[in-house]
Amino acid sequence: MSIQMTHRTSAETGITPTAPVFPDVPESAITRVQTTIIDWFEAAARPLPWRAEGTSAWAVLVSEIMSQQTPVSRVAPRWSEWLERWPTPADLAAAPTAEVLQRWDRLGYPRRALRLQEAARVIADDHDNQVPDTAAALETLPGIGSYTAAAVASFAHGERTTVLDTNVRRVLVRVFAGRDRPTVSPSRRETVWAERFVPATDHVAWNAGVMEFGALVCTARSPKCEDCPLADICAWNLAGRPASAAKPKTQKWAGTDRQLRGAIMDVLKAAHAEAAEAGNRSTSVVERSSVVPGSSAVEKAANATTGRASAATDAIAVDLFTAPTAELDDERLGTLGPTTSAKLTTMRDLSADADRISRLIADLVTDGLAHRSGDRLSLPR
Ligand code: SF4
Repeated sequence: MSIQMTHRTSAETGITPTAPVFPDVPESAITRVQTTIIDWFEAAARPLPWRAEGTSAWAVLVSEIMSQQTPVSRVAPRWSEWLERWPTPADLAAAPTAEVLQRWDRLGYPRRALRLQEAARVIADDHDNQVPDTAAALETLPGIGSYTAAAVASFAHGERTTVLDTNVRRVLVRVFAGRDRPTVSPSRRETVWAERFVPATDHVAWNAGVMEFGALVCTARSPKCEDCPLADICAWNLAGRPASAAKPKTQKWAGTDRQLRGAIMDVLKAAHAEAAEAGNRSTSVVERSSVVPGSSAVEKAANATTGRASAATDAIAVDLFTAPTAELDDERLGTLGPTTSAKLTTMRDLSADADRISRLIADLVTDGLAHRSGDRLSLPR
């Protein structure tokens, strides 16, 4: 069986595409693909921790937010730690934001952590600490988009929804529309088209299965067509796997603002951790002093008696981020804990100019990811 598609010619461009953008698909083909994916998933699904029986809706929501733009191998350990620390929305809602960012660790895009905490506060305050059980209600929460709402409603509550992430969309356009990849984001038309492929029963297995299939078999760069159970019906495979005219842009990391923001955040997180370890996270000693850290009489006395660890503070002088590196002598770096000092050196090795660093620091403060008090910068209070 193969999927038949209607050919047409664009009046505007004169180009004859291989198929309509979202073609009609015969019921028999839909049933075959559904059955194949669901059977494949039953046999091949990875034992991800949030798929275990009895996982709470809150835990599913956390897994979905963490898994956006982060590989599941990096998410799994963080997810377990988070759920141990904050087992319900109310627990996360009450947590210090600095600790939330700290524990987000290296998952990237830390604004997700802030949005998750905002959503937790709304769930705790307005929903009796229970994650809403419909996609429509979930979408009213801060930071929850249509994809996450559909996924949580399906995987946590069994609602029949259409879960459309990049993996799902890629599988659908390859198999049913004969194209190698979807557009940047789904249109209303695509969403309506995809709804038809969600079975009336087994819709949770379909949603999870087609996602997993896109992650493991029908991948963006190296689809395993030779071993694919849909190879005989997949429109893109049968057409000889033609590449799209426009290649997707690959995201650079080195030299980007994102890299530099991450490096600044790493300094603040290290400072927070070392200050907490030294029992010195209060703002008392350093923030009362407007002079160079380590130079106040109080600090000098403290350092003399307890050594370097006592100098650790979670509030870092902004000019340590922006001053010419030649001015960062051992005495100034010695006011920081050893990990903070190493992170600062790494960040300064990126060789960004002071104006750019100042701009990114201002952005971090605006985004709620950092707190500035006078000439000091720390994680949010
Ligand atoms: S044949 Fe290739 S492109 Fe088609 S569904 Fe299978 S892996 Fe994806």
